[in-house]
Amino acid sequence: MTDATTPSALPQGGNMTDQTVRAPQTVSRTPKARNEGEEAYLEVTDLHVQFPTADGKVQAVQGLSYSLPLRRTLAIVGESGSGKSVSSMAVLGLHDRKNTWISGSIKVGGREVVGMTEKELMSFRGAEAAMIFQDPQSSLHPYFTIGSQITESYRAHNNVSKRVAKKRAIEMLGRVGIPNPARRVDQYPHEFSGGMRQRAMIAMALVNDPKLLIADEPTTALDVTVQAQILDLIADLQRDFGSAVVFITHDLGVVAEIADDILVMYAGNAVEHGPVDKILGTPLHPYTWGLLESIPAVSGTPGPLHPIPGSPPSLLAMPSGCAFHPRCEFRERVGGDLCRTLKPELISRTADQGRTSRCHLKEPDKVFETEVLPRLP
Ligand code: SF4
Repeated sequence: MTDATTPSALPQGGNMTDQTVRAPQTVSRTPKARNEGEEAYLEVTDLHVQFPTADGKVQAVQGLSYSLPLRRTLAIVGESGSGKSVSSMAVLGLHDRKNTWISGSIKVGGREVVGMTEKELMSFRGAEAAMIFQDPQSSLHPYFTIGSQITESYRAHNNVSKRVAKKRAIEMLGRVGIPNPARRVDQYPHEFSGGMRQRAMIAMALVNDPKLLIADEPTTALDVTVQAQILDLIADLQRDFGSAVVFITHDLGVVAEIADDILVMYAGNAVEHGPVDKILGTPLHPYTWGLLESIPAVSGTPGPLHPIPGSPPSLLAMPSGCAFHPRCEFRERVGGDLCRTLKPELISRTADQGRTSRCHLKEPDKVFETEVLPRLP
């Protein structure tokens, strides 16, 4: 276990390609400090997403709020069903409108997304916000060339000829590191490797220069070397395009490499939120502790894994009180029956600016340092 470092003590200019083996608790680069009063480009306020089913309402997201300025990367972390992808799809208005209930507010560049018409969403998506999906194999159409799929996206938002759009596609393929883009532009997805397909997806997402990029587990299907290259690419492009990036992942090692802030989600709720070095250095929520403990050691003698006991709850029948209480080994430390009966608020628990957690436990920073830190892999 390497102690988390403070921003001032972090190594500078970390090259991800050289650091594919790393402890997630160690932030190997300097995260950008958030300036007070920095204007949010993406502002999510009290977002609820529900799906009516034959068995009742699935409460996939329950009162989520966060904000993200330009040039920052927010990693949203959690197990399957935590609401990380569902909430991010809502930002792009990607849910089936007939079968989804969305309330709250999502503002992108000052524009309200909740309640946009389909026509408004069509002009908003791609131009102002875009998504990179997990699996480029299924996201790219096998019958069309890579170039035609990028030019279609470009021409949907720009009144230009096919020739001009193709020039732009070649430029974007070159920008994302595809060699010989003038030839590759006329090839089909099956002629690209997995890493190149993901690069092409990134080119397509960025072709209209959107200021908000949502990357939904974009490196999960890739081997570790290509994964590192794609993370480097996204970080480079963010710097060049000045975009805000939401990075959805379950991999805390990736978070340490790319994020400025982390939002940990559990059962549709934010349970911990704050700057990456603070959250990975001294996490305050037992669920975040569980995520860190369940990661295999990356060096030394491998010890036994410590998975979080139990499973995430059914969103159709949420536990009372703290949703994590059936799986939490610290619930007995809280007086009375509070964990089982009262849902904790997401509040500031330390003097650290801009970090919050949702837990009744007293002095969680001390509990982490004395009991959890010594047993981390
Ligand atoms: Fe555990 Fe109680 Fe904190 Fe929930 S509120 S995470 S059950 S200690």
